[in-house]
Amino acid sequence: MTESDKTGKRRATTRRPDLDTVYTIKSDGSRNMIHPADVKGRWQLRKEIIWAILVVIYIGIPWVRIGGRPAMLIDLPARHAFLFGNTFTNQDFYLVFFIISGIGFSLFVATALWGRVWCGYACPQTVFLEGWFRKIERLIEGRGEARIRRNQGPMTFDKFWRKTLKHLIFLCFSFWIAHTFLSYFIPVQKILTVIMSSPAAHPTAFFWSMFWTAALYFDYAWFREQLCLIICPYGRLQSTLIDQDTVVIGYDENRGEPRTKQAAEGGDCIDCFRCVAVCPTGIDIRNGQQMECIGCANCIDACDDIMAKVGKPGGLVRYDTQRSFSGEARRRLFRPKVIAYLVLFVIGGIVFSAAAGRRTPVEVQLLRQKGMPFVLEEDKIRNLYNLHIQNKTGEDRVYFIEPRPGKEAEPFDPEYVTPIKRLEIDSFDDKSIPVFVFVERKKYSDYFPLGIAVTDSATGYEKLMKLKFRGP
Ligand code: SF4
Ligand code: SF4
Repeated sequence: MTESDKTGKRRATTRRPDLDTVYTIKSDGSRNMIHPADVKGRWQLRKEIIWAILVVIYIGIPWVRIGGRPAMLIDLPARHAFLFGNTFTNQDFYLVFFIISGIGFSLFVATALWGRVWCGYACPQTVFLEGWFRKIERLIEGRGEARIRRNQGPMTFDKFWRKTLKHLIFLCFSFWIAHTFLSYFIPVQKILTVIMSSPAAHPTAFFWSMFWTAALYFDYAWFREQLCLIICPYGRLQSTLIDQDTVVIGYDENRGEPRTKQAAEGGDCIDCFRCVAVCPTGIDIRNGQQMECIGCANCIDACDDIMAKVGKPGGLVRYDTQRSFSGEARRRLFRPKVIAYLVLFVIGGIVFSAAAGRRTPVEVQLLRQKGMPFVLEEDKIRNLYNLHIQNKTGEDRVYFIEPRPGKEAEPFDPEYVTPIKRLEIDSFDDKSIPVFVFVERKKYSDYFPLGIAVTDSATGYEKLMKLKFRGP
């Protein structure tokens, strides 16, 4: 690599990753762009299969419909969401806590057991960067070493057309991924309409579409591993979740050291730097566990390949626990923290299932009108309530409002006056109507409970609302 000296001149250096500096930043503060070498092996094959499945899932879900509704859509302006055949409205917002904490605890369990397995195998950042963008880059600009050489050389026609073509394709893919991301929040048919129409017709949608396209292009074309190192909060969390019994990717120091170029002498590590050359974050796994390691397993395949070439068994760099790497035979899968995360995950899952199962297709609220609790009108006492009905289903519904005073109210003979007894409400819409209740003054002695029933005509679902009648 080259770096600028104090006079600004470029000079060749043989800087190696260490624990004291961030390898992706040069001493002059500029970016040291990583161009990982190509690698093949069993972990690469597994990742390719997993990424192919995940790409189909990530891109395909917005197109899937269950019961005529999108399989997954969080429609923020309309304040409702569809999740695999279930409909949630703003009234169900508290369930988001259980969904987010459930995802969090399952990630905690996975990290405590297998380290940054999410980062290396399933995070969309890795899936699209390694699965699409780096492949396109290799196809157009060649292998890592060729790219570094070309980048350091002058601008030629060959360099120009390769860079232009690469960035044009990057822009197209960023546009596609951005709109796939947006289609989790805006129905996919609406997105297609927006794409086909003039930006002036949908300025807000156009702004977000361009914003996310630009953000993803910036990320996948340039920012890359910096997102994992600087921005991602999960990366910062991992050190608190990983312990001596977590299966991580590591280097077997007992077997590898002392490292030497002579395979017949010293340890098994021949100091070939192949594990460093393939690392997408530019670290040397032989320096021990580092925050920059995203658990991609490139170094395992690279080292296994070298070991095969020098006639030694693979596994010098491998998945194992810190305890095993330091020579201890004991392994503990279920530690207190793993059990605690699992218990919290299960409790959250049970509460979520119970709460989600108790959701009703209609939300009804009967509240006393603000201000005076009652009004005296000649020989009558009047109470005024506000009946609010929200249709939480995806279909238009008709609701019937019916007085149900109940036994305790019988002696007072309350008279209900509602302007509407039949209420039509569009899907996910809501309406409010006033409800007047009158009781003759001579019949009133003390406050008493009374009710009003709201019935969904389509399903027969009925909700009986109770309130107290008050008087002087
Ligand atoms: S050290 Fe190995 S597993 Fe970690 S990021 Fe680098 S190549 Fe991937
Ligand atoms: S690839 Fe294996 S042998 Fe080569 S430097 Fe890395 S650990 Fe040592």
